[in-house]
Amino acid sequence: MRTENCLVEFFADHQCHFSTQGGMRVIELERSPGVYTCRSYLLLGEWNQLGDVNTLIDPGTDGFVLDQIEKFSTGCGKVPVEQIILTHNHFDHGASVDIFKQRYGSRVFAWCDGKDVDEILYDGHIIKAADDFLQVLHTPGHSSDSICLYNQAQRILFSGDTQLRIRSPGGVFTPEYVESLRRLAHLKIDTVYSGHDEPMTSHIQETIHTTLANVRRSRIITTEEEKAELL
Ligand SMILES: [Zn+2]
Repeated sequence: MRTENCLVEFFADHQCHFSTQGGMRVIELERSPGVYTCRSYLLLGEWNQLGDVNTLIDPGTDGFVLDQIEKFSTGCGKVPVEQIILTHNHFDHGASVDIFKQRYGSRVFAWCDGKDVDEILYDGHIIKAADDFLQVLHTPGHSSDSICLYNQAQRILFSGDTQLRIRSPGGVFTPEYVESLRRLAHLKIDTVYSGHDEPMTSHIQETIHTTLANVRRSRIITTEEEKAELL
């Protein structure tokens, strides 16, 4: 119980959702009502210790989440956003990166190089985040630079815009996306925090397996021209 009740009250006051399953805390920030933007997640350590790395996954289109972040207790003498990880470089996920770089000097990680990117990620990359770690999984499909981030201890997947729920066959997909789903289907996942949807907390393996089956029964493109069109 400890501080959990205090945290519940604190976060309720700030109209944010969070989870404390022990260790890393995932805070779902409110989205800007006026623009098309993604869901942003702030990862904080359980006790805001000096060695924790305050991490923001996908800052979104504008700086809307900044005010919310400023209201959180992110650790005495610590920078509220020490690093940013982009799940892919679409505007609704990363357009506001420069605002955070200017405000906090945040270090930015992404799969592909870009104006504000400090470090390029690779498949299997382990990044310290909050008081735990995230593993980078390259999951091309939505875009060629899409990644998922997996926290093994709490079985959390940050899926970005990698589509995990496709209810019926019939679309057009790349072979890379099939491979991405196949890899994700092997993971033990209790919670999915996606780029746009509500968190998924049940039947995750079944959902991914069903999606994989539906995608395999759909049209898989083979030529580079078709692929370029799709991406
Ligand atoms: Zn998106």
